[in-house]
Amino acid sequence: MEIIIDAEKCTGCTICSKRCPFAIIKMENRLAVIGQGCTFCGVCVEACPFSAITIYKDQEKHVDLSAYKGIMVFGEVRDKKFANVALELISKAREIADQIKTHVITVILGEKINHLAKEALSYGSDKVILIDDPVVKDFRTDAYARVMVDIIRDQKPEIALIGATSIGRDLAARIAIQLHTGLTADCTGLDMDMERRILLQTRPAFGGNLMATIETPYHRPQMATVRPKVMKIGKRDESRKGEILNLKPGITEEKVRTKIREIIKQEQGEVNLEEAEIICTGGRGIHKPENFSLIRELAGLLGGAVGASRATVDAGWIDASHQVGQTGKTVAPKLYIACGVSGAIQHLAGMQTSDIIVAINKDADAPIFNVATYGIVGDLFDVVPALIKEIKKVKGLE
Ligand SMILES: Cc1cc2nc3c(=O)[nH]c(=O)nc-3n(C[C@H](O)[C@H](O)[C@H](O)COP(=O)(O)OP(=O)(O)OC[C@H]3O[C@@H](n4cnc5c(N)ncnc54)[C@H](O)[C@@H]3O)c2cc1C
Repeated sequence: MEIIIDAEKCTGCTICSKRCPFAIIKMENRLAVIGQGCTFCGVCVEACPFSAITIYKDQEKHVDLSAYKGIMVFGEVRDKKFANVALELISKAREIADQIKTHVITVILGEKINHLAKEALSYGSDKVILIDDPVVKDFRTDAYARVMVDIIRDQKPEIALIGATSIGRDLAARIAIQLHTGLTADCTGLDMDMERRILLQTRPAFGGNLMATIETPYHRPQMATVRPKVMKIGKRDESRKGEILNLKPGITEEKVRTKIREIIKQEQGEVNLEEAEIICTGGRGIHKPENFSLIRELAGLLGGAVGASRATVDAGWIDASHQVGQTGKTVAPKLYIACGVSGAIQHLAGMQTSDIIVAINKDADAPIFNVATYGIVGDLFDVVPALIKEIKKVKGLE
């Protein structure tokens, strides 16, 4: 059994809290929260004047799985352009849809974003739902969640995919709880169990020491957030056609609790790690923070970005925005040069899909060599300056 408070309906009136015979309902931010020890007696359900509380008994029996069809992708937009992860997910959704013979729906929220519909079709969507309205101009959790929940309830997709970005992680959790379905966060792999038509959602677990494959067998949609850069963007086909549906949001500005007063963009001094085609990463093997200058010089010459292992970030040698790995950024550049990085599983989780990996490490048994395309066993303080010298020579800078 499960007891759920509908956050949209709860007004924080406190009636349920006063009536609960076990005094386990507390109010948090004007929202009722059921504490430990609920016996599902139903007194609160009866008492609530807003029908905001529901007890679900054997809920799985009530979900008609066959009523859900199609794969829905949340087409995340940044500055009126698709975030790369949106295109990655449309491409992956297309691949799965072809396997299970279903359709792909992409939902795009924003203002003046109509031009994105054709792009979504060209990457493999069959249907695009556009909500072009000031109320969804910028991401706000409550507005976006409300709109997405309405669309999902109406379209009934069997799978819903959202990028594991800061926006996607925030949004997906809110949607899943309102739809009473499961959510696998931060997936690095998606596959289908064809026999049971179940999405196999794989993500690192227990600190990255094992990969867990999670299923949502009884509830729909099967929801997953997926790490950027783990899925490949498919080929664009401008000739692809599909349905474009313009809808109005089922929410007005007055109902949105968050107001955006100003958006201040973070200054991006160096090359953006997630978008970089070349990344040079420093690990603990660089010995001290000043030696990142060597990594910066190499990256600068190659027109790349500077990455870092968590050990160097934790030591305060470099800002956390440079961290690559399970708790940092997932990257897949054309060239990844790891200097003095051991290759712990949590680091590999963030970079092992790079096209070419060059590892420089003085320990020939370092695990980084297991994923390296080219391995250089040696002292990075000899190898990196030699590399820099050669690159300068090739570029005519010496
Ligand atoms: C839950 C969890 C999440 C984590 N998330 C991340 C993450 O997102 N990203 C991440 O990176 N780590 C992460 N870690 C930490 C991870 O387990 C490792 O501790 C970390 O990656 C080690 O960083 P490193 O390779 O720089 O250091 P070390 O493991 O200390 O390796 C240093 C390497 O440098 C080599 N070396 C030393 N001197 C030289 C030299 N002069 N020339 C050449 N080579 C040299 C050594 O042989 C060694 O292989 C996480 C850990 C946990 C538990």
